[in-house]
Amino acid sequence: MSIADNLKQVLDSLPAEVELVAVSKYHTNEEILEAYEAGARAFGESRAQDLKVKHETLPKDIEWHFIGALQTNKIKYIISYVHLIHSVDSLRLLEEINKHAARVNRRVDCLLEIHIAREASKSGFTFDDCRSLLQAGSHRELEHVRICGLMGMATFTDDERQIATEFESLKNFFDEVKAAHFTNDEAFSQLSMGMSDDYHIAVSQGSTMVRVGSRIFG
Ligand SMILES: *Cc1c(COP(=O)(O)O)cnc(C)c1O
Repeated sequence: MSIADNLKQVLDSLPAEVELVAVSKYHTNEEILEAYEAGARAFGESRAQDLKVKHETLPKDIEWHFIGALQTNKIKYIISYVHLIHSVDSLRLLEEINKHAARVNRRVDCLLEIHIAREASKSGFTFDDCRSLLQAGSHRELEHVRICGLMGMATFTDDERQIATEFESLKNFFDEVKAAHFTNDEAFSQLSMGMSDDYHIAVSQGSTMVRVGSRIFG
């Protein structure tokens, strides 16, 4: 199947209110353009330099999402145009994004990445670390970032019940955090969870945004 066919199949399987981010990391401009011409406008990349090159060479109406580990010395490559940073995993990173965003006079949308998987290798805040961060409240002084929700990745496993339990725990945590810290903040609305192999489970557990790569690009 072509990229366009794959994209259509994924879109057809998603409820209309769930946003699709086509994860184009490691894929060429030609492949990205195929998805673009088939209607995709939100693309996700995990390396800042790749994102910079693609942003410079591809159509300007693409929304670029950053989904990988972001080193503070790479923020400058993406800060002036990135649409949403899904992978904020420390207060220090949030502060650095804020500093760079101030320089380019932007307010940059970010998600806090939460560690829900069993694998130690995946990054993100624990629930408790995230609670402490939000209770301390210093994020509210960062005027050039806007926390728009949470992101998480489930364990890499065939056990669908395990995956569903992890996504459910993140949805419950999202609701808790929303009620405790973002009640009157409409921007706090995104729950980014679900990839090629588990996005159907994520959607059934309340995902608002899925990040699908291999299912589209092969
Ligand atoms: C690579 C990646 C994806 C997409 O993974 P697929 O399994 O190819 O759909 C989604 N989210 C993150 C954070 C990724 O690094």
